[in-house]
Amino acid sequence: MRVSLSLDVTAGEGFLAPYLDGLRRGEAIAGRCTACGRTALPPEPRCRCGAAAAEMRRLAGTATVLWRTTGTDGDAALVRFDGADTLSVARLETVGGATRVRIAASDAAALVVTAEPSP
Ligand SMILES: [Zn+2]
Repeated sequence: MRVSLSLDVTAGEGFLAPYLDGLRRGEAIAGRCTACGRTALPPEPRCRCGAAAAEMRRLAGTATVLWRTTGTDGDAALVRFDGADTLSVARLETVGGATRVRIAASDAAALVVTAEPSP
């Protein structure tokens, strides 16, 4: 016998709310561990040192592309944001092989980066 159930759930953004709001504005909001200073983007619920307390802090929003790939729905990149101790996976919206990128605003609260404007 097979039974299908539908589930309608609304979940809040929880501790990620500042990060997700930042993505909508085009800002990189990271969590900095108050015990060891490790800065994670996205913020983590618990630092690898064991501490659960983190303060949210806005990074410059610039990053270096470490690796990139092209998928059926666009390009993605592994990036390290300036000031972050972690790596992030982002949708890459650049033409060519830019290695320096900047966060872009996303209505869908996705991590999107685009080529950094030339100085
Ligand atoms: Zn820590």
